[in-house]
Amino acid sequence: MPEETFVIVGASLAGAKAAETLREEGFGGRVVLMGEEIERPYERPPLSKGFLLGQEPRDKAHVHPADWYDKHDVELRLGTTVARIDRSAKQVWPTGGEPIAYDRLLLATGASPRRLDVPGSKLQGIHYLRSMADAARLREAIAHGGRRVVVAGAGWIGLETAAAARTYRNDVTVIEPEPTPLHRVVGPEVGEIFAGLHRAHGVDLRLDQGVAGFWGAGQVSAVVTSGGAEIPADVVIVGIGVRPNTALAEAAGLEVSDGVLVDASMRTSDPDIFAAGDVAAVSHPALGRRVRVEHWANALDGGPAAARAMLGQDVSFDKIPYFFSDQYELGMEMAGLSAPGEYDEVVFRGDRDELEFVAFWLSGGRVVAGMNVNIWDVTDDIQALIRAGRQVDRDRLTDAKIPLSEV
Ligand code: FAD
Ligand code: NAP
Repeated sequence: MPEETFVIVGASLAGAKAAETLREEGFGGRVVLMGEEIERPYERPPLSKGFLLGQEPRDKAHVHPADWYDKHDVELRLGTTVARIDRSAKQVWPTGGEPIAYDRLLLATGASPRRLDVPGSKLQGIHYLRSMADAARLREAIAHGGRRVVVAGAGWIGLETAAAARTYRNDVTVIEPEPTPLHRVVGPEVGEIFAGLHRAHGVDLRLDQGVAGFWGAGQVSAVVTSGGAEIPADVVIVGIGVRPNTALAEAAGLEVSDGVLVDASMRTSDPDIFAAGDVAAVSHPALGRRVRVEHWANALDGGPAAARAMLGQDVSFDKIPYFFSDQYELGMEMAGLSAPGEYDEVVFRGDRDELEFVAFWLSGGRVVAGMNVNIWDVTDDIQALIRAGRQVDRDRLTDAKIPLSEV
């Protein structure tokens, strides 16, 4: 039988981990890993934390050592954009290159920042943060301190970069249309805690307002808010969310709706095409609905799950969504789904003032999400509570003397 070819589009965490799994599982055919960026696959979390703060070298972010790809016979094609999928010929077409035939194809194309389309948005000094090159440019802009930094969006990018900019001793203002930071992700109860943290570190939080435009002659010099305030700025950071990179899939006629639709085995509406990571909207067996997760662990585990499914193994991807963040002295992990509408109550165990607590989001008395702040080794217990889907005793849940495993 001729050797099979598995092609992976998107050479980042999900794609690189899928390639690794194919080899670990003994796939002896051809593996082609194609990515638009010129940097070999890397993880993005350090770009708004250790790398941005100058505490971690560039190389620490890479998924594999430089020689790993040759050693494992993975054809890594960097600086290569796949422009088209021809499903009837089972070929992918890179821009300006020859087509490559595939037996199985994985789409791990991730997501791209939403752009602010307001007057002045093309001025110099306005930064977005997705790639290592973006992070290097941003670091250069804030690392010397003493600058007026305005951040648009109090999501994860906004808050982590605000913390980095304060750590470098810049003046920092954050503009956010919702009444609390992280409103859409964690709701107001926990959003307030992040607001308090940033205010305590000297961040000027301007809530309930968006960005109406920018002033400047070539270089940005001020941000105008929807409330009409004019905030002087030397550096602007925009973190207003991402959109999944679905254009390839859409043009190929795959089912797409806020992400490439896949079943629990990461298979798209075409049985030979799979998707994983930020771009994939997975029919989640444990949560009983479709979810698209934009976090590191989902790419780390989802790429390998897709690779196993490509090899014909029985796969059911049912990981509870999980992620982490670090801002100043606050380190946290979060599991489950906690957006407003997902829950009816938030309860706490531990000490919120000392920033050592676990927050639980409850729906009908059941735990749907949990965030441990500066408390470690509890995420398995939190995930077990979410998975169990049973009513919990609220008093035991909030009593820090009772181990979570015994609630
Ligand atoms: P991506 O990382 O988006 O990679 C997709 C790749 O595909 C890109 O390299 C892109 O260039 C390439 N591509 C797209 N289209 C094509 C094409 N047509 N042809 C070829 N290549 C293509 N998550 C956490 O859980 N914790 C964190 O602390 C955290 N911090 C983050 C900090 C930053 C600054 C950012 C930007 C993200 C952070 N995340 C974090 C989110 C996490 O990094 C993402 O969930 C993860 O990168 C998703 O991986 P992915 O492989 O699915 O997609
Ligand atoms: P995000 O978490 O979706 O947050 C975007 C924020 O910007 C939201 O609060 C949003 O408010 C706000 N916003 C929208 N339009 C705005 C406007 N015009 N002006 C000001 N604010 C506006 O997205 P992100 O912070 O940009 O992060 C990008 C991606 O990286 C996400 O996938 C995120 O999960 C990932 N990431 C994760 C981590 C982590 O896990 N620690 C760290 C960094 C990045 P609305 O809710 O009203 O839209």
